Amino acid sequence: MLQIYMPLNFLGVIYREIKQNLTDLDKMFTLMDKQQEVQDAPGATALTGLDAPAVRFENVHFAYEAERPILHGISLEIPAGKTVAVVGPSGAGKSTLSRLLYRFYDIQQGRITIAGQDIRAVTQQSLRRAIGIVPQDTVLFNDSIAFNIAYGKPNASQEDIEAAARAARIHDFIAAQPKGYATTVGERGLKLSGGEKQRVAIARTLLKNPPILIFDEATSALDSANERAIQAELHQAAAGKTTLVIAHRLSTVVDAHEIIVLDGGRIVERGSHAQLLAQGGRYASMWALQQQSGAATASP
Ligand code: ADP
Ligand code: MG
Repeated sequence: MLQIYMPLNFLGVIYREIKQNLTDLDKMFTLMDKQQEVQDAPGATALTGLDAPAVRFENVHFAYEAERPILHGISLEIPAGKTVAVVGPSGAGKSTLSRLLYRFYDIQQGRITIAGQDIRAVTQQSLRRAIGIVPQDTVLFNDSIAFNIAYGKPNASQEDIEAAARAARIHDFIAAQPKGYATTVGERGLKLSGGEKQRVAIARTLLKNPPILIFDEATSALDSANERAIQAELHQAAAGKTTLVIAHRLSTVVDAHEIIVLDGGRIVERGSHAQLLAQGGRYASMWALQQQSGAATASP
């Protein structure tokens, strides 16, 4: 069943989405444009060295539209197997960083490397295989829940799919549907809440189990009980993986190798949690604010 529906490539999926899902036309055309913009370089080869790849942003400048620069010379390194966290106000450019690493867009200046290879020099297919992303807003395919979870690992067994769904705390919800894992979701099927979609995306990423992980406010739509449980799973999944965490709740980044505070497309502070607290700057006041509101105590 899964094999039959497995698209040849991402564009194939987009095309099918357009046919099936008129309400998302704008989004899909935007994505299609991106597909055309970003091309494999002539002679591009597959990304290698994926046992423990370090990720580097070197003086990255980026604008979606030429007249409005978004990132102004970002340099950061996620050492092999470590977690780097990015925090900062809405609009700072955090999600843009994650989209650039996945190469949805090409940068105007600088370099992004994985295991020393410029991501523009490798095939997009090998790049995207190496990265699991839980985006801020998940778009599901008009297909079964099983397909949506197995996307990224099309040969997964039903057992593997269920294990990932359990870890992402979405199994019970799926099992309660009359058609279970065969339930169609998306615009033409069962409509899932933001939190349910987020849990499907988490299950998908846990199942894919890639060497590089990106969590972009991955639990922001969950209630606090689910969030705590899933944070523990994500923490475990990230162990030994090269991980970029974009966090809305600072309590989830305390252990990060480095925390980067981004504002207006610039790094305004960086360091460990202890260093940043001692510094008494932006991060320290964000931390104090979250402690007050109780948000930071929602995680163990
Ligand atoms: P954050 O995740 O920190 O809230 P984003 O990276 O999503 O911020 O956005 C950074 C800036 O880029 C914002 O000003 C946003 O409006 C702009 N932006 C995001 N996506 C696009 C896009 N597709 N086209 C044009 N501008 C965009
Ligand atoms: Mg964002």
